[in-house]
Amino acid sequence: MAETKEISDFDELRKLRLADEGYLVITDTARPAIVHRVNARCITADSFNLKVVINGRKQGSYFWAESVATASHAFGAKRCKVCKPELFLVPPSTFDS
Ligand SMILES: [Zn+2]
Repeated sequence: MAETKEISDFDELRKLRLADEGYLVITDTARPAIVHRVNARCITADSFNLKVVINGRKQGSYFWAESVATASHAFGAKRCKVCKPELFLVPPSTFDS
């Protein structure tokens, strides 16, 4: 099952990074969404704080996605050129049980 969730506060972001699973998607009303590694250095507390807390997610938001493929399907996200998340092309049926 394809899964994504919006990250609404810094504590949630911190927990996801500690878990080190999945990917982060940053959406922006002015640019295409970008998918990053969950622990990428291009994700900073300052930019999260600005977008989510200060701007109140009006110009975009942060989401967690279980895979790059999910991020691509759900947000049309492009892979970050800085942290280069891997592209795992696994058929969704692999996870059916
Ligand atoms: Zn990145």
